[in-house]
Amino acid sequence: MLIDSYNRVVDYLRVSVTERCNFRCSYCMPEKPFSWVPKENLLSFEELFEFIKIAIDEGVKKIRITGGEPLLREDLDKFIKMIYDYSPSIDLAMTTNAYLLKGTAQRLKDAGLKRINVSIDTLKSDVAQQIAGKDVLKNVLDGVEEALRVGLKVKVNMVPMDGINSQEIVDVLEYSKERGMSVRFIEYMENQHASKEIKGLKSNELLEILSKHYSFSDDGFDGASPSHYYTMDDGYRFGIIEPYEDDFCTKCNRIRLTAEGYLIPCLYFDEAMSIADFVKRGEIKNAALVLKEVVKNKPEKNRWGGDDGESSKRAFYETGG
Ligand code: SAM
Ligand code: SF4
Repeated sequence: MLIDSYNRVVDYLRVSVTERCNFRCSYCMPEKPFSWVPKENLLSFEELFEFIKIAIDEGVKKIRITGGEPLLREDLDKFIKMIYDYSPSIDLAMTTNAYLLKGTAQRLKDAGLKRINVSIDTLKSDVAQQIAGKDVLKNVLDGVEEALRVGLKVKVNMVPMDGINSQEIVDVLEYSKERGMSVRFIEYMENQHASKEIKGLKSNELLEILSKHYSFSDDGFDGASPSHYYTMDDGYRFGIIEPYEDDFCTKCNRIRLTAEGYLIPCLYFDEAMSIADFVKRGEIKNAALVLKEVVKNKPEKNRWGGDDGESSKRAFYETGG
């Protein structure tokens, strides 16, 4: 079992399979970065899998594939099947912008994928174009329908931004609710890669808008999820992720692996250790030692709410959010 110095059990690994993306979301990657990681520096699926086996053997029970846009990476279904075959009971999920989901959802489901989280920031084509930098909405919504049709569980992520999509909070909630998908509103997290003009809505502003339409109770946190949950009178549950708070850090159970092989103990901090050379050379024991070291050094909490005014330097498309 992996236990950090604050007695938290780490059993959730997020694996970013690429930092590349077919969207240019204003809050994440408004422009193509000057320096993509060269393709030859990316770990192959076989190399990533070598590490994933170690993590599963050490007690990891949940794996989320993310990116950049994970569906840009060829043969993703084969990678998912490798993980599933090794540990069929693993909670295997993916976060995607859904643009390429139509036509791939069935294969992913057959390979062993159980759940997906999809970013839906708007239901209006022009706003989607404004946020993502291209006309994406139809493909995204078709992808979601297909995922539901093939039996994947789907959750929706929305980043509400003042003057951009803040009018659509109720619409996105209703869209999700009608389809049996839970929605989580993610407070915009400042980072040095995002568009400078964005002003994200804070949890109290979101709750004020929602309370004009619904009555709901505050359920607090649920397990290790960073979401603060609320249940509406009809039983529908929505969540808000408030990174500027650090309550959820006390139960944090996750670490992140980038496509280049860096293990990151906390989304906020720059600290990371590489397992790349070890998995490339087949030095499994050394990779396992790095995993244990990273878990040991996991910081107590993030610093988004800190008073030093610093925002995170690392891009979300690198770490997978
Ligand atoms: N491309 C996939 C997607 O968009 O779902 C997966 C990667 S994306 C980096 C993962 C999550 O990070 C998405 O839900 C996205 O909304 C969120 N995200 C990215 N930048 C963010 C920011 N600055 N603040 C809050 N959430 C952010
Ligand atoms: Fe791409 Fe996801 Fe970042 Fe948007 S949020 S730019 S879809 S990685």
